[in-house]
Amino acid sequence: MATNRTFTMIKPDAVKNGHTGAILNDIIAGGFKIVAMKYTHLSAEKAGEFYAVHKERPFYGELVDFMSSGPIVAAILEKENAVEDFRKLIGHTDPSKAEPGTIRNKYAKSIDANAVHGSDSDENAEIEGNFYFSAFERF
Ligand code: ATP
Ligand code: MG
Repeated sequence: MATNRTFTMIKPDAVKNGHTGAILNDIIAGGFKIVAMKYTHLSAEKAGEFYAVHKERPFYGELVDFMSSGPIVAAILEKENAVEDFRKLIGHTDPSKAEPGTIRNKYAKSIDANAVHGSDSDENAEIEGNFYFSAFERF
């Protein structure tokens, strides 16, 4: 069944560099409605759990260290075609390849510190949203 929701995190680099407000602005201007939001700090254990799908990749250790290095903003977003449209809004994983105007093009410096996360499928959007939010925390 198609869903109209995706999940995002504003990553530690973007929060630290003061881009939280601008990124939320771009998300809202892009037509997404925020249906859940949380400002939190992942432990290394929780970051490892979140990115468990990447366990075998060579950058897994660095990814876990980075994602637990500072606070993040987690959110569930609603829009028609949410998963695909949000990945278009954030741009390529590597900010040097991200199209002008995309969030990673504007606010990210490197492939490991790339400002935002966006779910890659409806199924993962559901799993990732459930990782952070209970039924009482989404509207
Ligand atoms: P995300 O899942 O964070 O939205 P993505 O779907 O564009 O990003 P993935 O392939 O899922 O990219 O990788 C997850 C994250 O791991 C990336 O956002 C990036 O921070 C990091 N990463 C990916 N490839 C590399 C790499 N070659 N070197 C270092 N870090 C990487
Ligand atoms: Mg991904």
